[in-house]
Amino acid sequence: MTTRPESHLMATYPPQPVTFVRGEGTRLFDDQGKEYLDFLCGLAVTSLGHANPAVAEAISTQARELLHVSNLFGTVPGEEVAATLDRLLDAGDGRVFFCNSGAEANECAIKLARRFGGRGRHAVVSAYGSFHGRTLATLHATGQPQKHEPFQPLPEGFRHVAWADADALAAALDPSVAAVLLEPVQGEGGVNPAPAGYLTEVRRLCDEQGVLLMIDEVQTGLGRTGRWFGFQHYGIRPDVVTMAKALGNGVPIGACWARADVAAAFEPGDHATTFGGQPLAAAAARAVLGEMERLDVPARAARAGERLMCGLRELDGVADVRGLGLLIAAQLDEGRDARAVTAECLDAGLVVNAVTPSALRLAPPLTVSDAEIDEALGILGKVLAAGDR
Ligand SMILES: *Cc1c(COP(=O)(O)O)cnc(C)c1O
Repeated sequence: MTTRPESHLMATYPPQPVTFVRGEGTRLFDDQGKEYLDFLCGLAVTSLGHANPAVAEAISTQARELLHVSNLFGTVPGEEVAATLDRLLDAGDGRVFFCNSGAEANECAIKLARRFGGRGRHAVVSAYGSFHGRTLATLHATGQPQKHEPFQPLPEGFRHVAWADADALAAALDPSVAAVLLEPVQGEGGVNPAPAGYLTEVRRLCDEQGVLLMIDEVQTGLGRTGRWFGFQHYGIRPDVVTMAKALGNGVPIGACWARADVAAAFEPGDHATTFGGQPLAAAAARAVLGEMERLDVPARAARAGERLMCGLRELDGVADVRGLGLLIAAQLDEGRDARAVTAECLDAGLVVNAVTPSALRLAPPLTVSDAEIDEALGILGKVLAAGDR
């Protein structure tokens, strides 16, 4: 355990138990040369594995050509990435705004909803247990009141309803509501996939009330759930989709996609960012999407997810397994502490995290091999068995 009393970093993160210095595919290496299997991917970010050669090549090439010109000018990779995202969303008529993170993608969506709704129609309804970011507005959209308290007052215009309860949503939709914002699988809330029928009913309610349906795909997007986007499991068409985490495979980039007529609510000057979509990030995203399509990562995630879920269900100490594709939570037997298990896994060379006090989250690269899955299951099985003694 490295404690760093002299650290000049703000203490927003827990003390670091290890320092990783190198990665390759599903493997990470710490400063002592010890090897780990990364089944967390920096929180669903490095979906193509560490040091992906195609992405590394794109970054280094772009760094030698052009890093930044500002959004006063367009970029070639940005246009291509936007067109590809529009196609992967099965849309064909959308527009994209690039930014630098998931929270910024959701900020863009919230501002767009207000602009589209017009004065008096500005509220955003989201679900309890959701996570949408840490800026003041996205923190308020995040349906976890205990996270709000230290930062009151938060921006107005947010309300929360019970997750997966269409009646509760129906009751919340009055004429002040501009949009509903939901994750297809609540990630930080514990890996809770939307139950069958819920999003269809949400879509129907939104249509009935003239409310935008905005889907937060920051964690679920880009193949992780076994489809390009999580909402595609549910047969709905959103009006706005936000994404970030996996889009740059570690290079910061976020995106807010909207149907063209919704996007048209933004006029020049309404929204901007200095770095968003700059050539380096856009070139990384272009390479990521190219690799993802070449490898058909949604199919890989679906297949690998099945193997991992089946293996987890067999382990003593695991009470239940939930998730979609390679976004998985293993609910531990009662009395087990997920944080202790996470620490023991790390010690044994497996990176996972405690998504709740009693559940582990597993989000390996979409390129993970069967052998790596079996190896990880072996490590976790041993850790759980040792904890039994
Ligand atoms: C991680 C996450 C965010 C926030 O993304 P940042 O890049 O950390 O700002 C928003 N929504 C969801 C669903 C997330 O998982």
